[in-house]
Amino acid sequence: MRLKSVRRRILRASVLARSTTQLAGTGGKKQKMQKLVDGIHKFQKDCFSRDEKLFETLVGGQNPLALFITCSDSRIDPNRLTQTRPGELFIQRTAGNIIPPYGSVTGGEAATIEYAVSALKVRDIVVCGHSHCGAMSGLLDPASVETMPAVKAYLQHAEATRRIVEENYKYLTDPVECLTLTVEENVLVQLESLRTHPSVAAAVGRRDLKLHGWVYEFETGDVFAFHPDKAQFVPLAEMEQPAADPSRTLPPI
Ligand SMILES: [Zn+2]
Repeated sequence: MRLKSVRRRILRASVLARSTTQLAGTGGKKQKMQKLVDGIHKFQKDCFSRDEKLFETLVGGQNPLALFITCSDSRIDPNRLTQTRPGELFIQRTAGNIIPPYGSVTGGEAATIEYAVSALKVRDIVVCGHSHCGAMSGLLDPASVETMPAVKAYLQHAEATRRIVEENYKYLTDPVECLTLTVEENVLVQLESLRTHPSVAAAVGRRDLKLHGWVYEFETGDVFAFHPDKAQFVPLAEMEQPAADPSRTLPPI
């Protein structure tokens, strides 16, 4: 235990030394980076010591409650939103919570999904879109991403979303309503894309895995979930809660 603490202190000192060197001469950026460094100090001083036992437990491995796929947008904090702690959520973040169909690219998305399902054996995957999504705005306005070839190419994986909105919702003239609908449709399109991943298809087929489509409205804190029977997004609170798993229920005393 003492060795661990010494190692931790050396590590902290080395991180701080590097941070201080990197911060020198960065001018206006210093203030923004300093906030991050100050945050680490605060984390080590207040949070880590308070939850030290939890962090030590995590060394033994992870057994997350779910795979949570959401947008890279800085306004979303999956752990804060779901009130989960380190070790409880396996998280994948991409622009527009896009999930390239299996085999279309060799990338981190497929590897993360496969590892979560096959190795960690998660029982639930949540695809969570969000209000005012910049990636979905770019999808609706291709000219705005013309100078960003990587973004433009990545958005191709949401082309079905764009076509669904363009061809089926011509009557929507309000840009905010149109964006909200696009965010919702995209969650459904990406859920379909998720099902093309063999590990997901197989686990869903044997009823070991459930897929969930959510949209988070960060300005109100509301979360809407896709209700398959109603074929629409409804407040999460209105979703029927699944029956308790008998194998996980304690017998009456
Ligand atoms: Zn977004």
